[in-house]
This record gives sequence, structure tokens and C-alpha cells, in this order.
Amino acid sequence: MTKYVFVTGGVVSSLGKGIASASLAAILESRGLKVTLIKLDPYLNVDPGTMSPFQHGEVFVTDDGAETDLDLGHYERFISTRMKRTNNFTTGQIYKSVLEKERRGDYLGKTVQVIPHVTNEIQEFVKRGAGATDVDVAIVEIGGTVGDIESLPFLEAVRQMALRAGPSNAAFVHLTYVPWIAAAGELKTKPTQHTVQKMREIGIQPDVLLCRADRKIPDDECDKISLFTNVPLAGVISMWDVDTIYKVPRMLHEQRLDELICMKLQLLTKSADLRRWDKLVHEVAHPKSEVTVAMCGKYTELSDSYKSLNEALRHAGIHNHARVKIEYVDSETLTEDNVGQLEKFDAILVPGGFGKRGVEGKILTAQYAREHKIPYLGICLGMQVATIEVARHLAGLTGANSTEFDPETPHPVIALIDEWQDSDGTIQKRDEKSDLGGTMRLGAQSSDVVPGTLAYQIYGKVVTERHRHRYEANQRYLERLREAGLVISAITQREKLTEIVELPQTQHPWFVGVQFHPEFKSTPWDGHPLFTSYVKAALDHQRAAQLVKEAA
Ligand code: GLN
Repeated sequence: MTKYVFVTGGVVSSLGKGIASASLAAILESRGLKVTLIKLDPYLNVDPGTMSPFQHGEVFVTDDGAETDLDLGHYERFISTRMKRTNNFTTGQIYKSVLEKERRGDYLGKTVQVIPHVTNEIQEFVKRGAGATDVDVAIVEIGGTVGDIESLPFLEAVRQMALRAGPSNAAFVHLTYVPWIAAAGELKTKPTQHTVQKMREIGIQPDVLLCRADRKIPDDECDKISLFTNVPLAGVISMWDVDTIYKVPRMLHEQRLDELICMKLQLLTKSADLRRWDKLVHEVAHPKSEVTVAMCGKYTELSDSYKSLNEALRHAGIHNHARVKIEYVDSETLTEDNVGQLEKFDAILVPGGFGKRGVEGKILTAQYAREHKIPYLGICLGMQVATIEVARHLAGLTGANSTEFDPETPHPVIALIDEWQDSDGTIQKRDEKSDLGGTMRLGAQSSDVVPGTLAYQIYGKVVTERHRHRYEANQRYLERLREAGLVISAITQREKLTEIVELPQTQHPWFVGVQFHPEFKSTPWDGHPLFTSYVKAALDHQRAAQLVKEAA
């Protein structure tokens, strides 16, 4: 039978509930338990796919093609269980399901209400998420902050679930904030007292408090928190700021969080083994070199828009014993006059994106990287702009573009699949259809890699990566692009969709565009072959540039 740990948050958001949940999961996994994580999001969007990355940060894509909360990315990076569509759901999905049942008449003439119908539905969804994989423990992270109107049905639902499951099958962990008030020179426990009161008001007594603060919370303050929140002192755990998230599992384990949870859930296991985390932290702290990558996109580091990408670059750094510094360059500000600012970078990356804004700057970026032989990685939109650039400047296709940015372009080298036809006149149709627009290519797909290419050196025969995009390289132009020097190094077997493009290594040391999002599959343990190769190319470029400088 699956046991549950419900993780809630209090006082403010952005305290790192996702990292805390993932860390607990990682420690439990290291004790030999099978663990999964489920994220409940209290907003009405059916999924985050339609939300601006400014609002919500990155949309994480699972193998089975779900557009999910970025916390699922942390989960996959911290534990070995792979996330599925059922590991994340929103209030929107719950209501959609309840309303569909109501229309079908499933409620047999009853008045449909938040309690019990919505709360029952939430419990069903949680069980479904846990049941999708046969696990010992499901850690259920409830988005939002206790006290919000919108998260109330979730809290009521998990309260009921815990009651039904019995005390040895459910535990509550509450993440709270203990602010340092500089003027008083003190850490303040009052917000924590109040947030736990709020929890108790709805019938939940936390078993553990994870107290976020900018520093370690002294014993006397922990005593005070324990006394006023009715949480035993052993359950008052301090979670201070650290320079890398990979230190958090060790921090929580040292304070016996896993022991406490295993005791509460009556789980007999071997003891935790965090050696690989220690090794990882050591690697992160002791790089042998450093490279700087220019990330030319629309968003800045603070928006969380490129979360998995940043992590993938860091992992690739670890695997090259290097620190990877990322500098954000707003592609909207790039012009022919100032694109020279990219010269100083060891590598250039154009990430995924939607919409026209900043696209010309990205095309210019790809051109600069190609002409100046700086390692270039184009991800999704980054592959599309590289293709447009080659079409315009090497294939002589003036005005080439994607129909996403210029529907009237004379050369739609990137277009929607039903905007171009096969040579026999048939329109290619995709397998995937979703309710939302239905044209997005989502989730993991495989294709063969062409031998002799850089992609083949990196991936071997087959590449399986996750997708999230609408537009594709137009088959009708592939021949002309090939003639102009673009190598198409992977194409899907059935639909003949371009997956990877590159420049021959005789002409450019490392220039690759991929239609998929490799960053979703990078983990700190294995890194990712594409990113590892890219960062190695950055190091090589740096060394070569250094030699040129010394010679001059
Ligand atoms: N906007 C492009 C498309 O829809 C690229 C999407 C992306 O980069 N994820 O195809």
C-alpha cells in the first residue's frame, strides 16, 4: 500500500517547496524505497502550457507529452522515477473532470458541490498519480500558500485522505518562512506560528516544519517554534540558504527528516546513503575551469523560464569539470551594429521560444556564431532560426522565414505541417492531437541518426527526445538547404520531420540545432551527451582563442 507525505507551504511562495519535496524523495530513495512525487497546482488553467513563462516559468514536458509544472523537472533530476501526465494536475483539470461527469449524469441528480465532489475528485487524481507507478511513498506537493482561497479544496481533500489512510500511512510536512529582521537583529517566528494556526484551523497538524531562513535557526528559536506550533522539537527543521540546491538532501538528512518520516509511516528501511550527493556537491564546488555561454532569448534568469536548460548546462559543466556561467543577452536588442558583443563568449545558445519578438536578433545570433565559428547550440526555435539563417545567407533564399513570424514569406523554410505538402501532394498528418489547438508536437519521439555526423558521435544510432512545438522544417526545402551546406543529421522515420541539423565539422567546429528539448532529460548523474559535448566544444573554443591571443 502506498503511503503519503503531503507537503504544504506557508507565509510566502518561492521558498523552494519543489526542491524540499524532491530532496526528501531523494533521501527516501537512497534508503531503498520506491518513491514518486505528485504536484497539485491550484490555478484554473488546465495546464501551464498556455501561461506566459514570465508568469509561470518553464513548462516541463514529460515523456508522455504532458505540459507540466517546472517542479516536475526537479523531481526527475532528483529521483529515478520518471514523471508522467498523472504526476501533475491543476484545479482546472479537476473542475473539467467534475463538469464532464456532471454533464454525463454521473452524479445521479445530486447537487454538485466543492465538498464532496471536487474534494473526492482531487483524492482520485492523487491516487491515480501514485498508482501510475507502484511506489512505497508518494510525496504530494500542494502548490500555493496556506490561507489562499484557491488551495482550500486541495487541503480539505488531503486532510480527508490522511484521515482515511490512518496515521501510519500519511505525514504532513509544512514549509514555512522565518524572516531575519535586520533592524531588530532577530529571526522572527510569528509568521510560522500563524501559518501553523491556519493549518490547524482546517484540521491539519503538521508532523514536520521545514523552516526556511537565510541562516541556520538557533536552538532557542526552534524551541519556541515547537512550543507554539505543537510540532515536537525533532520535527522543527532548519532549511537555510545554500549556494547549490544539491546540498539540500544532505542538510535535511543531517537533521533526521527521513528518519522522522520513516518512523511516522512505520517504514523499516536501510539507512540513507547520500554519497553520490556529496560527490556531486564536491564537483560543483571544485571546477577546474570556467566557460561563459551567451543565452540569446527573451527572458532573463529570474523568470525561471529556462530552468531545465540552466540545469542541463550546469550538469554538462560538472561532466567537464568546469563551471558554466550563463549570460543572458536580450535578443530583441541585438542588431548588426552590436552583435559583435557575442565575440567574447565561449559558446552561444539560442533557446526555445514562441512568437515573433526578438526573432531577427536570434537569426543574427546564429549567423554570427556560424561565421565566427563559435560553438552554437540551437534548441527548438534555436534550430529553426539557424535553418532560416542558412536559407537566407547560404542558399540565397531571400526573405526566408517561418510562417510563425511571416505568414507571407516567399520561402517558408519553417512552417506548420499542413502548410506544406509531400512531393506526391499528400498532406502529412500527425499522430498527436490534443484538445488545445491540437497541432503541438509533444512528448518523446525517436528517430535514426545519420552515420558520420556530429549528432551520430553524440547520440549514436537513435535519438529519443521530448518535443514541444508546432512548426517544423519544411520538407520541400530540405534539398536546397542540403545543397547550401546544411547537414540534416536526424529525421523521423515515418513523418520525415527534421530532428537535428548541423554544419559539417570541416566548416565549423560545433554547430548543432535540435528540434526537440534535450534539456528535459539531463540529470546531475548522467548529464546529457549533447550538452556535455557542447560544453566541451566551448572549452576547446576558449583554449583555441587563448592560443590565438597569445600568438598575436
Ligand atoms: N515557436 C516554435 C514552434 O512552435 C518553436 C517552439 C519552441 O521553441 N519550443 O515550432
